[in-house]
Amino acid sequence: VAAKYLGHSTPLKLALLLAFLIWTSIARIVRGSFLSLREKEYVEAARAAGAGDVRIMFRHMLPNTIGPIVVAATLTIGTAILLEAVLSFLGFGIEPPTPALGALLNEGQDQGLDKWWLVTFPGVIIVVIVLCINFVGDGLRDALDPTQRPPSAASVPEPLLTIRDLVVEFNTEDGIVQAVDGVSYELFPGETLGIVGESGSGKSVSTMSILGLIPQPPGRIVRGEAIFKGTDLLKLSKKALRRVRGNEMAMVFQDPMTSLNPVLKIGFQIGEAIKTHNPDQKDAAARRRALELLKLVGVPNPERRVDQYPHEFSGGMRQRAMIAMAIANEPSVLIADEPTTALDVTIQAQILEVLKKAQDETHAATILITHDLGLIAELADRVIVMYAGKVVEVGDVGTIFASPRHPYTIGLMDSLPKLTEDEDWLRPIPGQPPSLISRPPGCAFHPRCFLSQGRIRCREEEPPLRLIGDSAHLSACHFAEELEGRTGHLVEPVGAEA
Ligand code: SF4
Repeated sequence: VAAKYLGHSTPLKLALLLAFLIWTSIARIVRGSFLSLREKEYVEAARAAGAGDVRIMFRHMLPNTIGPIVVAATLTIGTAILLEAVLSFLGFGIEPPTPALGALLNEGQDQGLDKWWLVTFPGVIIVVIVLCINFVGDGLRDALDPTQRPPSAASVPEPLLTIRDLVVEFNTEDGIVQAVDGVSYELFPGETLGIVGESGSGKSVSTMSILGLIPQPPGRIVRGEAIFKGTDLLKLSKKALRRVRGNEMAMVFQDPMTSLNPVLKIGFQIGEAIKTHNPDQKDAAARRRALELLKLVGVPNPERRVDQYPHEFSGGMRQRAMIAMAIANEPSVLIADEPTTALDVTIQAQILEVLKKAQDETHAATILITHDLGLIAELADRVIVMYAGKVVEVGDVGTIFASPRHPYTIGLMDSLPKLTEDEDWLRPIPGQPPSLISRPPGCAFHPRCFLSQGRIRCREEEPPLRLIGDSAHLSACHFAEELEGRTGHLVEPVGAEA
């Protein structure tokens, strides 16, 4: 209507009219973006650092809104071009002899079907122009908004250890036990990767086997790769693997009493661990290093303790000595297999602290193998959940605890003892882990799964490990999406005394 009353329209008049009519939509987007950014912590931090309103708006908020603004602006330009074409087509827009695509359409329509190209080409050109403007908008957004750019190669760390499709079997009198079945995972420098699962889930075997620490026979690595710093550990000779063990990759075992030699002094054993991989090291230097390490792991009075035997140490002190031995050669990978399970509850927290300290000191990436999700919450950055020899869920620790997407993970969480008053009972996962000689068909967890509810798919089709959402969260459950927003309390409680 306004165009009609403007009379003979020039391109400038029409552009001003359209700008007047549609500027409010962009203004709304800008305002909404700024309002939502106002509460962000980095804006608060800038304010706390003394930045004024203008500086906060231009230096901190505008760069964060530039992407949506550019996209909205280019969409609006496209809309304006379409509006101009429609107005000119209807005779309210730019008038001849000034050329306009809408006016061309109008003229073409008057010529009828005989000259179809007079309508078709202007129409196609309008569509192409609008699409091009949208593409330019997307390109500008990607160029101006750093969050849209893929992370540079330098910011994605190379994994230190990559396990691919590892299959480990054991020959037993009853048949072949498939202890590890197609396990793959990566360990990145400096991270703590928790591997959690019940006994027999394959969590220890998947790690021990790559270091040649399973008896062969009866054990057998059927296939797979374990790439550590560019070398496949599974292809190394026994001698070469010994050079890696205790040096580049070290272990802390569950029971320090059986892992330490009872007839050798603690200091001597730590010194031996050093000299095995550094034969030129003098005895005195090895002893000095043993003293340093005992001090580091919090063994009191190390000058006296270094000459004591393992039986003269308490359980917690022995585990400290084991950790000292493990980090003696500053390994790149530290593997802690149930490091606190054999210890008194009061000592467990101390050993966790020692492990953290050892990790800080050596910058080693750590694989923490445990059945205890509490320990994972305390120490791990990422979690792998294993069941019946397979990986069933992977994610960073925050995601797994906030939004578990496998019923087995939820079962493990529910079976953690609760300390609050109204949570003084346990919800153990019903049933037993399956036989690894004859695994149940379909999903191995289906006989124990609260979500399966007799679904045929669970019994017949093995669920693949697949990406959930757009983060690095993987789950091997057909119905993982149904678990969104559910964190626990999904099975009937059982009295703690049961
Ligand atoms: S696939 Fe079925 S049985 Fe397996 S975890 Fe998911 S719901 Fe349970």
